[in-house]
Amino acid sequence: MKRFVCVLLSVVMTAALCVFPASASGTVTLTYDLMYEGKTVTREYEAGAVPEQESFSREGYDSCRCYSDGGFTEHFDFSKPLTEDKTVYVRWLTEDELVNITVYLDPADEEPTASGEFVRGEVPGQFDAPGREGEYFAGWYRNRQCTVPYNPTEVIIDSFDIYACFADSPDEVTGYRIFDSPQAKTPVVGGFIKKGGTMFFPASPKMDEDQLLEGWFLDRGLTSEMDFSQPVTDSEISLYPSVLGEEEVYWVGLYLDPKDAAPVGYGFVKKGKPVPEPESPSREGERVTGWFTDRALTHEADFVSPNEDDISLFPRWEAIHRHSITEVPETAATAATDGCGKHWICTECRKWFYPDNPSLVEIEDHEEMVIPAEGPFVRGDANGDGDINISDVTSIQCFIAEIETEKFCRAAAHVSGSDRLDITDATYIQYYLADLVDTL
Ligand SMILES: [Zn+2]
Repeated sequence: MKRFVCVLLSVVMTAALCVFPASASGTVTLTYDLMYEGKTVTREYEAGAVPEQESFSREGYDSCRCYSDGGFTEHFDFSKPLTEDKTVYVRWLTEDELVNITVYLDPADEEPTASGEFVRGEVPGQFDAPGREGEYFAGWYRNRQCTVPYNPTEVIIDSFDIYACFADSPDEVTGYRIFDSPQAKTPVVGGFIKKGGTMFFPASPKMDEDQLLEGWFLDRGLTSEMDFSQPVTDSEISLYPSVLGEEEVYWVGLYLDPKDAAPVGYGFVKKGKPVPEPESPSREGERVTGWFTDRALTHEADFVSPNEDDISLFPRWEAIHRHSITEVPETAATAATDGCGKHWICTECRKWFYPDNPSLVEIEDHEEMVIPAEGPFVRGDANGDGDINISDVTSIQCFIAEIETEKFCRAAAHVSGSDRLDITDATYIQYYLADLVDTL
């Protein structure tokens, strides 16, 4: 229905033009709507003349801009000839709404060449390419080193500097063109970057709320996706967005709590791609231990398999468990029974921890702490060959380095009386062999 009305309107307008061709000649009126207190200023022009931009001032404002619509989405184009009556909408701006772009025509310059005021939240667009004798313009950059290219599709939020960068040869320059659809005939913006550098990620083209930018492609057929992490090596690139419609995407709603009525956020993902796992939100004293697709938390979310349908994700919150630990002293091995090394244990969750509290490193393999019963042993005779000598030191070193040895008696090797069997035990045996200590 809406489309029909539009078509009808355009037919009427065409008809009107045919009936009154005189309106293309004679005089036309340019009306400036000053957008306050109903103030307007009108100027008469000969039809086909290029209008001159007027400037206005208003108490309490620093600057103004002229737009072709009252919603201030498009700047009025004063370079086009006036063929019919038009209205210019004046937007008043305070200092807070203005930002500066400072231009350096040479990255080595201390003083800027020029500077311009732009409206915060608008897209300044591309700047003209400056010429320089014997060198080739290689694009506008955000830094003197010419490594971060200026992105002319980006909304300006804060003031910044831009630098004109040059190359010695045209072979060192890549020209780029950015289109707003694979069908578009003319690019939205074009420019240059240094070949071998990386390209900026363009701002998304205008999309509906239920559409998703899948990515940017180097061809209209959308077969070759641009990899923005790789250096650009072509002399020329064109970028086309792949915008997915309602039919091609599924919705993902992210809830902060299964009891919440509405999701805290949502997004769209291409059908056939797995659901992206959200980052765990944080909450005092609790942590997320899983994501579910139902409020009852019975169906765990699958972040691996391809998905087609809209999905809601609910986190399962669990109170963060604080271990309540007690010390378990070493039980010495005997000839017949295994002993166990000193450790800590949580009286609630029964997890084991190394004795170097408070780091609470969990001992997952309890076997590690077992001091095996290995029959009668001689303290210090780590390899059980019946003699205490340097080979026992080697044996301990092998054990520490996790090198397999034929026989190793842990109970015999652990001579230092410390919490853990380590190099101290080997040192202790060396002291003994050097007669620095009397007993082991
Ligand atoms: Zn615990």
